[in-house]
Amino acid sequence: MKKIAILGSTGSIGTQTLDIVREQKDIEVVAVAAGSNIALLEKQIREFAPKLACVYDEEKAVELRIKTADLPVKIVSGMEGLLEVSVFPESEILVTAIVGMLGIRPTVAAIQAGKKIALANKETLVTAGHLIMPMAKEYGVPILPVDSEHSAIFQSLQGNEGNKISKILLTASGGPFRGRKREELEQIQVEDALKHPNWSMGRKITIDSSTLVNKGLEVMEAKWLFGVELEQIQVVVHPQSVIHSAVEYEDGAVIAQLGTPDMRLPIQYALYYPKRMPMSGERLDLFSLGSLTFEQPDTETFRGLALAYEAMKQGGNVPTIYNAANERAVALFLAGKIGYLKITEIIETCMEQIVHRENPSLEEILETETLVYEYIERFICK
Ligand code: NDP
Repeated sequence: MKKIAILGSTGSIGTQTLDIVREQKDIEVVAVAAGSNIALLEKQIREFAPKLACVYDEEKAVELRIKTADLPVKIVSGMEGLLEVSVFPESEILVTAIVGMLGIRPTVAAIQAGKKIALANKETLVTAGHLIMPMAKEYGVPILPVDSEHSAIFQSLQGNEGNKISKILLTASGGPFRGRKREELEQIQVEDALKHPNWSMGRKITIDSSTLVNKGLEVMEAKWLFGVELEQIQVVVHPQSVIHSAVEYEDGAVIAQLGTPDMRLPIQYALYYPKRMPMSGERLDLFSLGSLTFEQPDTETFRGLALAYEAMKQGGNVPTIYNAANERAVALFLAGKIGYLKITEIIETCMEQIVHRENPSLEEILETETLVYEYIERFICK
């Protein structure tokens, strides 16, 4: 049996990971964590019988403890609880599927405890890639990408050890507002931005996909995961989301991974790497697709992508500023407190106003996050 722990088991990636567990039958879920959705977490505990479960929200944890009193499961809470799930002795792999910078400390703890990381939480590498990648190397722990684009790149690298990458072609669907100009985006409502053309995902990442901030975060994540220069990563808008990304080698050969848009494939590949397991679901039918199209990204309209390149170029804590500002801005947008275009405006303002630091420690990264939140609270929410 393969033993796994899941941070964010009630979310989009978390529930799809559990779909794989259901289908494969040789994976045991030994620990799970969620934020506050105890109704679903209780169902999961009853179905998968983990030995440890964390609910971040203290009061909800007390409620869940009562609801699961008939089961042999320990219920923990808060950051301490997340850390306990991350280093749970029996697990071999930690699936990091919580949303936000909250994922950094549990990932660090899991690496130090020698767990393989199936990494969905992109904020971890975006903000702390310079600490995480050397740490994973030091502890001999693989970081297996779950994000579909990074998984595609990872798959395209197999069998090519020692060969130099000349370029990464990172594909993007372009989101629901592809082709529109900036002035057309002013009146965008939350419901419009939550309609992704190809993928079904959590709310925050769906908004990020519409602003192309998600692609910006992916560029940063790819740089750390694959050790390439920023200039070697080219974003290609490909509305059909069939080519999940590709690698160009020095001889000009381009190797890509294609498939239907189904997150279960990259999740399963990370869990079983290097083995490929059978999987149910639709198969790619090139005849019915007919054609695949490609465009340059419009970085004038979708400033989020241009700002991500800028943040990464500046380095240090600037990607953290970018990410934290976006996290807060998206939450404000989802709460109906700011307009759609304000999201990237807030990111840009924070990148200008918050003090920059080179080579930040983990504490300085978390401190930067707090500074960004305080700045937005004082000057933007006032
Ligand atoms: P969702 O919003 O669907 O799920 C988030 C999960 O995190 C839920 O289980 C939620 O619990 C949990 N969570 C939230 N806050 C806390 C907390 N304080 N403590 C513990 N758990 C918490 O997100 P997604 O699954 O879409 O995304 C997860 C991560 O994966 C993100 O970093 C995203 O960028 C990345 N990713 C997602 C992809 C996708 O297709 N969805 C693709 C590639 C990457 P609760 O339900 O209780 O709130």
